[in-house]
Amino acid sequence: MLMKVIRAQNAGFCWGVERAIDIARDFAKKGKRPVYTDGPLIHNSQMMERLEGEGIREVGDYQSRADLTIDAEEDANSVLVVRAHGISPERRKYLKSLGIEFRDATCPDVGIVAGKIRLHAKKGYHTVIYGDARHPEAIGLMGYTEGRGHVISSKEDIDALPDLGEQVTMVSQTTMFTEDFQELADYLRERFPQALIFDTICGATKDRQGDIAVLMDHGVEAYVVIGGHHSANTRKLAMLARRTGKPTFHIETAKEIDPVEMGSFRCVGVTAGASTPEFLISEVCNRLAEISPQAAPASAQ
Ligand code: SF4
Repeated sequence: MLMKVIRAQNAGFCWGVERAIDIARDFAKKGKRPVYTDGPLIHNSQMMERLEGEGIREVGDYQSRADLTIDAEEDANSVLVVRAHGISPERRKYLKSLGIEFRDATCPDVGIVAGKIRLHAKKGYHTVIYGDARHPEAIGLMGYTEGRGHVISSKEDIDALPDLGEQVTMVSQTTMFTEDFQELADYLRERFPQALIFDTICGATKDRQGDIAVLMDHGVEAYVVIGGHHSANTRKLAMLARRTGKPTFHIETAKEIDPVEMGSFRCVGVTAGASTPEFLISEVCNRLAEISPQAAPASAQ
C-alpha cells in the first residue's frame, strides 16, 4: 500500500502572483531586455532562477526601498515591473522618474486596499493596518495613509496606539489570518468604538487557509506545506496547519522529504503558498505518493 496524498484545491500561485509573472514574461517574450522587477517578483528561489534564465531580473531590495542603479541610456530596451505586493505613491513616482518603460503589476486586490486607505485618509482618518510592518505590502500601503498610518500585529500594539480620536479605519494586509483579524478588530473597537473596519484579506488567501480545514476533514494525518522558507504567506499556511495539532512539514522542494519520517503516515495533505510554482508542487506530490507507510501513524506533535 502506498501513501495517500491529498492535494489542497488552491495550492500554489494565486491569481495576483500569476498575473505579475505573466506580465513580466510577456515583456521578455517581446524582446525587452532585461525585464527588471523592483525587488524579487516572487519569494521562491527556484522560480526566481527560472525567471532569471528568461531575462527577468530583480533589482532593488525585498522592501522596495533601495535606490536602483538603472541607466536610462544603457537600459533603453528594458522595462521595470512593479510586483504584486504593490508600492507606495512615492515609490511609484521615483520608479517612473528613472526614465525607462514602467509597468505596474500590483495585484488588483492590493489596489482595492490602497484605494480604501486613500479615500479615508483624504477625509482625515487614521489608518490601522493589521500586518507585518517589514513586509513590502504593508510598507506600500503605509504610503497611502497621508502620514496617519499605524501597522499593528497584536493586542499590545493596539494598546500602544496614541489616542486617534473618532476617525479611525482598520484594514488588513491581504495575506493575514482571518480569525486573528476579527479578534484584533473587536479589540480595536473597544478602544475606538467608531472605527470603520474593512476585512481586506484577499479571497485567494482565505481559500488557502480554508483548505487546511478541508484537508483535516479528509482525514489527513500530517501536512506538507511547500514554499520558500522566507515566504511570509507559506510560513503562515504552515503555522495554520500546526494549529490543527497535526505534524506539519514546511519544505521548499521534494529533496527535503525524508521517506522514513513520512513513512509513518498513511494519508498526507499537501498545500503550497501563493508563490510556489506548479512544478515544485507536482514533484513533492509524486515523491510522497511513492512512499509506503511503515507503521501506525505518528502521534500529533
Ligand atoms: S495573495 Fe491575494 S492580494 Fe496578494 S497577490 Fe495573491 S491574490 Fe493578490
